[in-house]
Amino acid sequence: MIPKSSPLHQPVSILNGVGQRLADKLARMQIRTIEDLLYTLPHRYEDRRDLRRIAHLRDNQHEIFYGEILASAEVRTRSGRRMWEAVVSDGSGQLTLKWFHYRTSWQQKTWKVGRRGVFRGEVKRFGGRREVLHPEADFLEQGVTVEAFLNRDPLSFGRILPIYPLTEGLHQKTARKIWKEAVDRHADSVATSLPEEITRRHNFAPLAECLKKVHWPENDADLASLQQGRDPWRTALVYDEFFYLELGLLLRKKGVSLEEGIPFKVEHLYTRPLAAMLPYRLTGAQRRVLGEIKQDLMRPHPMHRLVQGDVGSGKTVVALMSALVAIENGCQAAVVAPTEILAEQHYRFFGHWLEQLGLKAVLLSGSLKAAEKKAICRQIAEGEVHLVVGTHAVLEKGVEFRRLGLGIIDEQHRFGVEQRQVLKQKGVNPHILVMTATPIPRSLALTVYGDLSLSVIDELPPGRKPVKTVAYSETQRDRVFSLIKKALDRGEQGYVVFPLVEETEKSDLRAATEAVDELQAVFPGIRIGLLHGRMKGAEKDQIMQAFGSGDIQLLVATTVIEVGIDVANATIMVVEHAERFGLAQLHQLRGRVGRGGKESVCVLIRSRQCSEDGQKRLEVMCTTGDGFKIAEADLEIRGPGDFLGTRQSGLPDFRIANIIRDGRVLEKARQDAAELVRRDDFPEHPRYRSLMMELRLRWGGRLELAAVG
Ligand code: ADP
Ligand code: MG
Repeated sequence: MIPKSSPLHQPVSILNGVGQRLADKLARMQIRTIEDLLYTLPHRYEDRRDLRRIAHLRDNQHEIFYGEILASAEVRTRSGRRMWEAVVSDGSGQLTLKWFHYRTSWQQKTWKVGRRGVFRGEVKRFGGRREVLHPEADFLEQGVTVEAFLNRDPLSFGRILPIYPLTEGLHQKTARKIWKEAVDRHADSVATSLPEEITRRHNFAPLAECLKKVHWPENDADLASLQQGRDPWRTALVYDEFFYLELGLLLRKKGVSLEEGIPFKVEHLYTRPLAAMLPYRLTGAQRRVLGEIKQDLMRPHPMHRLVQGDVGSGKTVVALMSALVAIENGCQAAVVAPTEILAEQHYRFFGHWLEQLGLKAVLLSGSLKAAEKKAICRQIAEGEVHLVVGTHAVLEKGVEFRRLGLGIIDEQHRFGVEQRQVLKQKGVNPHILVMTATPIPRSLALTVYGDLSLSVIDELPPGRKPVKTVAYSETQRDRVFSLIKKALDRGEQGYVVFPLVEETEKSDLRAATEAVDELQAVFPGIRIGLLHGRMKGAEKDQIMQAFGSGDIQLLVATTVIEVGIDVANATIMVVEHAERFGLAQLHQLRGRVGRGGKESVCVLIRSRQCSEDGQKRLEVMCTTGDGFKIAEADLEIRGPGDFLGTRQSGLPDFRIANIIRDGRVLEKARQDAAELVRRDDFPEHPRYRSLMMELRLRWGGRLELAAVG
């Protein structure tokens, strides 16, 4: 553990040459203490171990070489563009240096014929010649030999150079000096607190040594693995970071599982009759997940389980079955959905089946009149209803249950951890089931939802056909219309979706309204409906009902339909300004079609202002329908924080770990932590003392649970 007086907690200004101004600049990068500095690792390296003779320079490599300027002048390219060229030689060969952006006066002053220097840059072959574009240079004074010059600056030459992230006004050379001093003087204060058995098992060097080797690699280090961030030293540091995270999550989970809950009996009083009435058989994956849930429900501790399943995998019926188990045990169940439309749809689904079983469900949404709401709340409190379906309204203060046994949250990604807590407090440690279609890679799911158990529905109901996906530009509208026409001619239905950045943004609403007029002009006689976020709940419900029954053939909508909507006869999804949507959203939208056994298409319309990332997203959508692949691609394009929405996901900010690169290390750290937590003498035994102290230090107040002794 790091004592308070440790130099690691001292401000960066204790370093030589770090004054207030430099400290302010570092603070902009969230670097305030020596520890921050030590844990801000180089983001790449430059190989400056050896100067290469010009004759031996390798194409497409970042090289460093010495030479004398033989010629230097402005020239014109064939297309008439001006450019500066200098030819350098070291006796072994020649090379051209080129600039497209420069100040003539500066070039004339600096790049004089006869000057000698050490140059750096990526060597390219252009025609028959080798060249370096916009080289970096250090010039030698007269009479100074290259050797003498290099020896004078051992921080910059003759080694693998760390390259640090910079901020405005902070130069690489200065950065190097500061980091070097911090590492030389203070890295040794970083103590390893991992149990020795673990460091030995993985062959980890002590953290202090790892820091030194990552900041200042030795000359015989493997440059490629350093560049990729997969060298043994960085790996040990990453492991250390993951290990404490996972340990904390596991202890929190253990704490939850120590709470007393309501053990259910599973007697199939309602689930068996339901299964007999359903028009389909559950898939193997649905049955397996249901089994996992039932196991949890029978334990005397509350369930905290996440069911992950791609859009259309059939999570809703699994939720219904789980709710019925709670109900047959004399408890109530609650289903919370993120939008009114989805809540309505769930109410129709759950309500229908409950009614068949002689049970009672109610809908609690924000758009109820005060008197209606009061009446419903009274029924809930008195235990007259078995199941409550609703939006956030269910979580409000006035809603009290007689005996809540199971809380279900649908589309978890739209809710935060807090909502889960609120739902929990509506009963006496009720079981909690959360469902998400966000196909988070397993490693990430374990991190984000580390205190939940995970069930995955990894199979779609039979007969699903992949949704054919195409990206068209705005100018290819005729093709879009013809696809719509084909679907409608077959008696099928479709969606045309517009992005709505803000619910209040009028221009987008206008776009949707105009689209209705345009489509009506193209397809006279077709029944078109408009659905948008500013409509009242009852209005929305009416439109959705009409679409569900086929009265509306084509539904023009803003993204209010994004989650959960289930109309099997809809076979075409047109997404306008598709590049404005995130991948997860596009995947959700596309999931609205292809729900029956019919061929479906998804048309992504790209606007003229489509960015490069936008283009990439559309390509991903056109090439795969697999939610997991899409999620991984999204992680790559956007990074994990953005993907999940950092605020909601509770995804920790890693100092050095990279969730994509380091997935394996995470897995290992998790296994090791789990193994530790299972031990009988953990965490009481004195040999875990420094580990536990470090854990508490890192987690601060976030480990409120009893299991942490
Ligand atoms: P999601 O997992 O996206 O919430 P839903 O629960 O809405 O998916 O189910 C999608 C569709 O699949 C629904 O129309 C539902 O009736 C249907 N479905 C669910 N399970 C099965 C099954 N085992 N066999 C056939 N269809 C099913
Ligand atoms: Mg759903």
